[in-house]
Amino acid sequence: MRTGEFDAVVVGGGVTGLTVALRLAGAGMRVAVIERDLLGAGATTHNHGVLHSGALYVRWHPEIVRDCADGRTAFVASFPDCLSGVETCWYIGTSATVDVYRPLWERHGIAARRVEQAQLGEVLADPDGVAGHAVAESVIDSHALICELAARAAAAGVELIVGADATEIVTADGRVRGVTTTTVALDAPRVVVCAGIGTRPLLQRSGSRVVTELTSRLETMMAFPGTLATAVIGLEFGWPFLAPSVTGRAVLASRYGAPQRFVRGEADWPVPAAEIAALIGDLGTRLCPGVLDLDAGVAWVGVKTEHPTGSDQWGTSPNYAVVDHRVRDGITGWWTVLPGKMTLALHASRAVATAITGTQGNLTLPAPGRSAPRSVESLVAVTPWTAHEEVDAA
Ligand SMILES: Cc1cc2nc3c(=O)[nH]c(=O)nc-3n(C[C@H](O)[C@H](O)[C@H](O)COP(=O)(O)OP(=O)(O)OC[C@H]3O[C@@H](n4cnc5c(N)ncnc54)[C@H](O)[C@@H]3O)c2cc1C
Repeated sequence: MRTGEFDAVVVGGGVTGLTVALRLAGAGMRVAVIERDLLGAGATTHNHGVLHSGALYVRWHPEIVRDCADGRTAFVASFPDCLSGVETCWYIGTSATVDVYRPLWERHGIAARRVEQAQLGEVLADPDGVAGHAVAESVIDSHALICELAARAAAAGVELIVGADATEIVTADGRVRGVTTTTVALDAPRVVVCAGIGTRPLLQRSGSRVVTELTSRLETMMAFPGTLATAVIGLEFGWPFLAPSVTGRAVLASRYGAPQRFVRGEADWPVPAAEIAALIGDLGTRLCPGVLDLDAGVAWVGVKTEHPTGSDQWGTSPNYAVVDHRVRDGITGWWTVLPGKMTLALHASRAVATAITGTQGNLTLPAPGRSAPRSVESLVAVTPWTAHEEVDAA
């Protein structure tokens, strides 16, 4: 079946695809978003939800610190109703490590306040030799974010098509013609791929050379019942990464710095029991008893794709990338976007919208128009921690 003609088709209904769609619709284009699952089924609702200020990156990725800070300011201004009440984060590490970070925070204008040992001792089982500094950070409700983006997109006239798996970007004579999917084929002279973990296989099926440069990874995460007033992020290898969910009744945890498995294709990835056991064991020895209910966690696999331009101690490149396939494959009208972080998705979506429309808009997304947003709940995926809390409450 062929459905309508569009000025642009966006593949992927996460934070990147929906912000790209909103920007293009705002420029007067007829836009469709195709999503193989439900909106927000990918990394956007399966991550820690931290709107990074850039504090984490001062040592290994100073090049993105400014963009993180600007992106966070724009994110908060764009989606004020999607923030949780959590506004601080403890960055913890050995005293020697924290001594390295302190002057770097100062150099980047990031205010960091020392956390007293007694306070650390309320969370960490053994705070000896550990130092912590509190930095202002925010955590978002990613489910609310996707609902908000989807409602704004629908109100702006974006066609939201769920359950359509893009099989190939259709090209002819060096130009994009549209996208084929498992359910519909869409004609459009512009296609923007924002498909997260689905990016690599889609580019491969579509014959792009860029595919060899993409790295896709899996990471195990869990949500545990428990409360924390702050997020806690380890500054170097081996420390946990904990972020309170928006309700404050569950904490999202991963073993930060744990090896992240590379993937080459598309599959259903079972959550590995050994990694869950290692995460629970790690938290059990590091945290005070009762901080989290370690017997009642739910686990899932987080996924992401990067376009590494360099790598750090974690073997990652957190920066955003916008690939113009005219330059890389000789195909006009095709872009691929990798956001790196949710805040950086605002930079990435602005960059691709600028390339398409020729006009650079604000980093902050404009407030929704006056027309009442359509209900989009049925198009949006449920977040793992929301599911967890439903089970908890039952
Ligand atoms: C474990 C983990 C923790 C993270 N923590 C943070 C954090 O605390 N803060 C932060 O800012 N960032 C964090 N990130 C990164 C952040 O989640 C991502 O950068 C961001 O959400 C990516 O958004 P996206 O829209 O590009 O991808 P996604 O949200 O993954 O969206 C891509 C969409 O494309 C769809 N799709 C894929 N293939 C196809 C296809 N063939 N056809 C149609 N649709 C398709 C998918 O179903 C998916 O819905 C984390 C990532 C991971 C994995």
